[in-house]
Amino acid sequence: KLYEPHGTGFGSMNTGGKIPLGLKRKGLRIVVTGGAGFVGSHLVDRLIERGDSVIVVDNFFTGRKENVMHHFKNPRFELIRHDVVEPLLLEVDQIYHLACPASPVHYKHNPVKTIKTNVVGTLNMLGLAKRVGARFLLTSTSEVYGDPLQHPQVETYWGNVNPIGVRSCYDEGKRTAETLTMDYHRGAGVEVRIARIFNTYGPRMCIDDGRVVSNFVAQALRKEPLTVYGDGKQTRSFQYVSDLVEGLMRLMEGEHVGPFNLGNPGEFTMLELAQVVQETIDPNARIEFRPNTEDDPHKRKPDITKAKDLLGWEPKISLRKGLPLMVSDFRQRIFGDHKEDTT
Ligand code: NAD
Ligand code: UDP
Ligand code: UDP
Repeated sequence: KLYEPHGTGFGSMNTGGKIPLGLKRKGLRIVVTGGAGFVGSHLVDRLIERGDSVIVVDNFFTGRKENVMHHFKNPRFELIRHDVVEPLLLEVDQIYHLACPASPVHYKHNPVKTIKTNVVGTLNMLGLAKRVGARFLLTSTSEVYGDPLQHPQVETYWGNVNPIGVRSCYDEGKRTAETLTMDYHRGAGVEVRIARIFNTYGPRMCIDDGRVVSNFVAQALRKEPLTVYGDGKQTRSFQYVSDLVEGLMRLMEGEHVGPFNLGNPGEFTMLELAQVVQETIDPNARIEFRPNTEDDPHKRKPDITKAKDLLGWEPKISLRKGLPLMVSDFRQRIFGDHKEDTT
């Protein structure tokens, strides 16, 4: 190992933050790729709060400076505009590798770029991890299960993925990223962790990114009809972002490689989700049916037994509790005087 965690200095600057059990302040040097995005920026907040030094690497394809602006004056924070498809030299202890568009609308926009990001981008970050002896965490996805034939999905399930469909750039890209991660682990001794993230929502999601929760919330607030694709009977399981961040940090700090499903097992049809949005925002919101997109998975729900047993993790925030927290952020960004600070 070329780099030892320096573990000095910065700890004394931060004494106030709430530190969950088992996640002690370490003063590590941490790269978060995709750290200006939705999930990444919430992770950065927690790492900074813990006392770490954080370098965000982001090309701003879907991320926004506004998501991390509140750290600009902190000497422990750095933001680098960089595309992970290009090599990058840094000296760090840990790499949280999130860089990749997550919304189907975004990842289908330039599918070849999405594959490059997942394959070449992940290769570069693994090369970096190998060179400096850093621990590497990949944020993979429930999409590796494709249109699953097993329900709920357990980590041992190998999935049902179309290799030539419109979602393949993302699904197969992430599957290759998992393969690369395991090959660097087995072949080069890199310490790795793999999280398979299920649908996550919360403040700072792009308002018009086409994902179902952000669509419904923005539509209800704008008094537009909620667009339900297909018959609305397909299911998803929605996780609030703070639960995910807690899971990612536990995974990084724990001893297990994974893969681990990180998601909320509460399963909803899209019609049920529309109903929860109506109850939360506007009981009079209308529903409008639209044709569904190609290759849309019929159901999705994580089995989280493994994460419960080995990481001591499970989600705490139900959809009915989490949705209002996101609504106030969306309300402010849609109607507020264009303020983007969503802390
Ligand atoms: P997001 O689109 O908000 O964030 C992705 C970030 O990566 C953005 O800031 C974007 O600008 C950056 N990025 C994209 N391509 C890049 C590149 N080539 N180089 C550098 N930066 C790049 O998405 P998110 O919801 O925050 O997702 C974060 C990670 O979690 C992604 O890897 C995604 O696949 C994974 N994930 C998310 C969900 C979810 O529901 N949010 C579900 C499964 C997996
Ligand atoms: N890489 C990087 N930063 C580093 C080390 C490597 O971006 O600090 C890139 C490197 O350019 C290469 C990839 O990671 O494209 C894989 O590196 P590795 O050393 O594993 O393979 P090699 O360079 O021998 O092909
Ligand atoms: N969906 C919908 N209305 C929308 C956007 C999406 O009914 O306005 C459906 C979509 O067809 C899918 C589900 O919601 O069945 C989840 O879609 P999303 O894009 O949020 O995430 P995915 O899990 O497909 O990556």
